[in-house]
Amino acid sequence: MRPLAIGVDLGGTNMRVAAIEDDGTQLQIIRSATNLARGYELVMGELVSMIRDLVRTFAANRRLLGIGVGIPGIIDLESGTLKTASNIPGWNDCPLRDTLESALQAPVILDNDANCAALGEKWIGAGRNLNDLCMLTLGTGVGGGFILNGKPWHGAIGMAGELGHMSVVPEGRGCACGNRGCLEQYASATAIRRMALEAVAAGLSPQLAGVADLNPHFDARAVFDCAVAGDSRARAIFESVGTALGVALANLINALNLPVYVVGGGVSNAWEAFSPSMFRQLSKRSIVFRAGELQQSQKKTTIVTRTFLQENAGLLGAARLPMLAEQSTRRSPLAV
Ligand SMILES: [Zn+2]
Repeated sequence: MRPLAIGVDLGGTNMRVAAIEDDGTQLQIIRSATNLARGYELVMGELVSMIRDLVRTFAANRRLLGIGVGIPGIIDLESGTLKTASNIPGWNDCPLRDTLESALQAPVILDNDANCAALGEKWIGAGRNLNDLCMLTLGTGVGGGFILNGKPWHGAIGMAGELGHMSVVPEGRGCACGNRGCLEQYASATAIRRMALEAVAAGLSPQLAGVADLNPHFDARAVFDCAVAGDSRARAIFESVGTALGVALANLINALNLPVYVVGGGVSNAWEAFSPSMFRQLSKRSIVFRAGELQQSQKKTTIVTRTFLQENAGLLGAARLPMLAEQSTRRSPLAV
């Protein structure tokens, strides 16, 4: 029977659940508002019933491998506990894996949402046919993930890939992590909105001020629309996003020399606005990136690209987790 996995993208605002076959075919995606005010039990109850719906529909003539869950937070992989998630307030030390496994009677694997996005891109996206990649997700915050030898790299205490908290501006803006000048403060959707509102308050852009006045949901997308329409201040904001990203990526490229670096998350839709200044920084700051520019062979070039899978990267990567777990169980002599 054809293997099937369920992928879950559990965010603070929305949750999405997908039934996905082992070749990446997306059978169905269903979504719902997370609505955290209901509390942990009710949110998990709805998530369980969404998963059950898909299992009932698609698992009758397929082999269910398990459920992979991507969450924007810090996870204790051994105990399957969500330690903390900045966009899911109040869910500290939640036993997510136990809750789902006992309700669903199927294996559940948790991972950080950016690690899942990286795994999705490695599987059927920008890094397919490669074993190693780095992913940056630019959303409300900035996340990161590494795939090394085909698998998510978790590090010694499971916290690898906190790329949003790399320092890009010494003594820069304060960050909730305790540091100053973190990438997240200059390249997230939150940062773009903040920089635009600062420009409005300083009277630097009548166009941004007009849009902010009319639009109660004034966000990074609205700033991007102003940049596309030619507003010089909005364009300068995205140039500064690209500069911050370029500084961070130059360090990552010099340190790791991976074949591909993928930029995803909602802000990556503004690729045209920020990537020119990002590439300028890479050429200026990274000896390893420059060495690749001189190579004729595509294989020796460092590729920095926007996401191939867009908003589904994390969902697909989450579904990939039980598939990888099954492969490693089959290969392990201990499993005989
Ligand atoms: Zn930080």
